[in-house]
Amino acid sequence: MFNTVRASAAPASLAAKQKYDGSDVYLELCNIFFNKCYICETKEPHDINVEHFRPHKGDESKKFDWQNLYLACSRCNNIKLVEFDDIIDCCDIELDVFRAIRHVPPITPYAKSVQLLSMLPNPKVELSRRLLDRVYNSDHTVNKKVSGAFLRRKIFDQYNLLLDQINNYYNPVATDMEKELSLERMQKLIHRSAPYSAFIRWCILDDMELGELLVGYMD
Ligand SMILES: [Zn+2]
Repeated sequence: MFNTVRASAAPASLAAKQKYDGSDVYLELCNIFFNKCYICETKEPHDINVEHFRPHKGDESKKFDWQNLYLACSRCNNIKLVEFDDIIDCCDIELDVFRAIRHVPPITPYAKSVQLLSMLPNPKVELSRRLLDRVYNSDHTVNKKVSGAFLRRKIFDQYNLLLDQINNYYNPVATDMEKELSLERMQKLIHRSAPYSAFIRWCILDDMELGELLVGYMD
């Protein structure tokens, strides 16, 4: 998961209370969530939904509440449903959502699972961890386009991009310029707009040297 800031005012179409997923809402949510699903961090997924963070259950004030509208892929949206309606909020500026759950990437392209660990003794964090565990580790058939195995493969691809940069950085014959370039590329990979940034950030945090050099870029 990644934090984001909802600085903008409610898009105009919400005022009419006819449609909660008008094009202005969708476009503004794409900006706020960097075109990523707020749960699995897949960038530009095949199928994306405007989701109610807290289910509206017919309540109009929740249904058209700008603060309650999030961007999620269909697969995560389906998995979340009612069972996970009290998870940590990535728009909460008080909470560091990526540090709340440790994300460990797959170490091979076809790994059977990824590891997720709650880092705070908090029921919301644990519920969110369980949701992410289901998202990343279950191969159920809600949406075959982004099955669990496909998703883990995409996380691995991103992790592999990081490994390239780590190898470049620690290459015994790397020049200062090459090391600097690798660090700049790692900054891109850990940016909250990048796919699966929580997995990549935790890898960097685990490295004594890179963690110190790059922790300042994990806003
Ligand atoms: Zn998703």
